[in-house]
Amino acid sequence: MLESDNFLVKEYFKKMIGEEGMKIIENVPAGEITDEEIARLSDSKLSSVRKVLYTLYENRIAEYRTERDDNSGWITYLWRFNHDNVKKIMEEEAAGNINELNRQLEEERKGVFYQCNCQRVLFEEAAAKDFLCDECSSNFEYIDNGNLIKELEEKVEVIAKWMKVLKKG
Ligand SMILES: [Zn+2]
Repeated sequence: MLESDNFLVKEYFKKMIGEEGMKIIENVPAGEITDEEIARLSDSKLSSVRKVLYTLYENRIAEYRTERDDNSGWITYLWRFNHDNVKKIMEEEAAGNINELNRQLEEERKGVFYQCNCQRVLFEEAAAKDFLCDECSSNFEYIDNGNLIKELEEKVEVIAKWMKVLKKG
């Protein structure tokens, strides 16, 4: 349900709940589920599952309701993902990413870049230093950023496509 193969989704959730958390939520099916069941499905410790669920709850990605067994008095927590919030959060994340990528693209398109052994600088800076880096004492050489631009363009395209899917769903 979380499209965890999507690189944006992956990055976002990895930051929030870590690798182990990813493993746990990847095993959560659609619909309601108990923490014990998630632990069983993902082969994880119940305490780890609860920690992940709580983090998701704090971020309004997961929610729960409780069910009380009249005979035993036992309370069951039934968890589910808040699809609307996940969608909203992912839309915001995608929009932010596209803005950042476009800003980077603009810089790469208008700049001419040079590189020494320790850093990448604009032509203007390399020229001002007579094409010799004062930090690593190597020459600034021209680098073609065509491939990098292409990569950035492809990323923008992938995210734009995904945003369209999010809007429709
Ligand atoms: Zn250098």
